[in-house]
Amino acid sequence: LFEANGEPTRLAEAARPLPAPAFKPGVADLQTALDQKHLFVVYQPKIHCSTGRLSGLEALVRWQHPDHGIITPDRFIPLAEEAGLIDAITLAVLNDALPWFAKWSLDYEKLGELTLSINISARSLGRPELIDSIVNLCTHSGVSPSKLIFELTETAAMDEPVAALTLLTRLRVHGFLLSLDDFGTGYSSMLQLVRLPFSELKIDRSFVASAATSQESRAVIRCITDLGRSLGMKTTAEGVEDSATHAYLQEIGCDLAQGYLFSRPLTPMLLANWMDKHLE
Ligand code: C2E
Ligand code: CA
Ligand code: CA
Ligand code: CA
Repeated sequence: LFEANGEPTRLAEAARPLPAPAFKPGVADLQTALDQKHLFVVYQPKIHCSTGRLSGLEALVRWQHPDHGIITPDRFIPLAEEAGLIDAITLAVLNDALPWFAKWSLDYEKLGELTLSINISARSLGRPELIDSIVNLCTHSGVSPSKLIFELTETAAMDEPVAALTLLTRLRVHGFLLSLDDFGTGYSSMLQLVRLPFSELKIDRSFVASAATSQESRAVIRCITDLGRSLGMKTTAEGVEDSATHAYLQEIGCDLAQGYLFSRPLTPMLLANWMDKHLE
């Protein structure tokens, strides 16, 4: 009755307090989060396109803020990069992820050999100390470097190809695998692409999200898959949300896929449940 002409509703709106301005974290907040261990990691399954079997997990960081709830990485990774806290975050993620990964590799041996993907920032490119810490963490948790895939965005790798080559080569020498993330959004020259020691191309979510409706997106995905195959790299499609896209990826021979169609990123408890079901 009241809502028919909208008046009382509008009055009620006016009486309602203004929403609190969105929390904008600062460097000190992030430092506190690191000190008090408010960062946590969720894991998204990555599956073989052809069989649907689990291939590996990608670690994605979250910030559990005591007053502001869960903060997603796009809201604090750029800040961490500017403030020089990004290596501390990478190490915090590995500290959390490696013991879990070691446990899951044993508990879910029947699923086959799993990989663990970790996102690494371009800002870490010049820091050889970081690699020593990563190697130490692997040794302590008993995870072989050959199970770890470091993902670097295409833009980062191509912006500073010399720094990228140095860090990436060092990682390769230790046996770690490398993946070119958000592929298709930057402008890699073919020459740089073959020079950098990547073993995986991750097709950017923007193409995958529109695959079901856009002929152009499908053409880009097919092209990247063919390129990966010719260069001896695995291709992974990220952000797969519908089964038509999954079917298309199978048809063109894309190797791996990730997305809400298979699973969202999960906490360790929920992931263990997911893997139990996956075993059935
Ligand atoms: P990314 O590496 O490209 O990760 C993929 C993002 O897509 C993740 O967002 C994931 O939750 C989301 N996603 C996965 N499947 C789907 C889907 O089917 N639909 C949709 N709409 N989204 C999907 P998230 O976790 O918010 O991470 C955003 C970005 O933050 C990441 O993009 C990565 O660049 C960065 N990031 C996350 N964790 C870390 C980290 O530990 N270190 C660094 N340096 N960067 C990180
Ligand atoms: Ca990634
Ligand atoms: Ca990506
Ligand atoms: Ca991205």
